[in-house]
Amino acid sequence: MHIHSDEAIILHSRDYGEADRIVTALTRNHGLLRGFARNARKSRKRFGPALEPFALLKLIWNPPRSGELSSLREAEILDLRTGLRRDLPTLALAGYGLELTERLTPEGDLHTEHFALLNAFLDHLGAVGAAPTAKLLFELRLVQLAGLMPHLLHCAICNAPFTEDIVPFSAGYGGGICATCATGNDGPPVNVATLGSLSRCLRAPVTVFADLHLGATTLREGGSILGAALAAHLDRPLASSAFLQLADSMAPVDPRKK
Ligand SMILES: [Zn+2]
Repeated sequence: MHIHSDEAIILHSRDYGEADRIVTALTRNHGLLRGFARNARKSRKRFGPALEPFALLKLIWNPPRSGELSSLREAEILDLRTGLRRDLPTLALAGYGLELTERLTPEGDLHTEHFALLNAFLDHLGAVGAAPTAKLLFELRLVQLAGLMPHLLHCAICNAPFTEDIVPFSAGYGGGICATCATGNDGPPVNVATLGSLSRCLRAPVTVFADLHLGATTLREGGSILGAALAAHLDRPLASSAFLQLADSMAPVDPRKK
């Protein structure tokens, strides 16, 4: 019988029947894993408290012979990430990260960059808590990995580099529109500097969160652009979005937001 072993982050976990659990995990080298953990709620020895969202584990499993569920055999806890429970905004943003990752990671392929991104994002949130910059960087990189990134440095229609300071941003064309191509009804205005900042952020490794700082305009405009790109792609809203908005509304104001 085939046995696989890999590091994995639990994205989703739900009880099944009397004693079992079904989990969705993102593995470092095996892509998305949907696994069935028999007796997980009774056999503390094999799984303990390991199969909870956010946890970084070493998982051992048998791939499915038919159907889509692997059979989980053992889980060793590497990091339960209790630091994410420091406050509501952090927990909400981490949950948003899990759901967005699950929705934007196709099944059946390796996604080592997706794993590296999510792992670094959760580590960062656990260490310093939620902040708008971390959210934007995470969305930006995941949108890029999913192949959904709008045009940032060139006109989405004619591909000419921008010479303007402000351009309309067209969700339909997926990018900014230069003055020659603009019709006056293309979309909300966005600073070309914002597009340049987003582009520069993409040159940093996906695991770097701590050393990047973004201004209020970039956070606001960039957030709108990425939000629109995600909304156009997702067939239904994220369940975690409402919780995230609620937690944000209760969060103290970030002094850098001004
Ligand atoms: Zn153009």
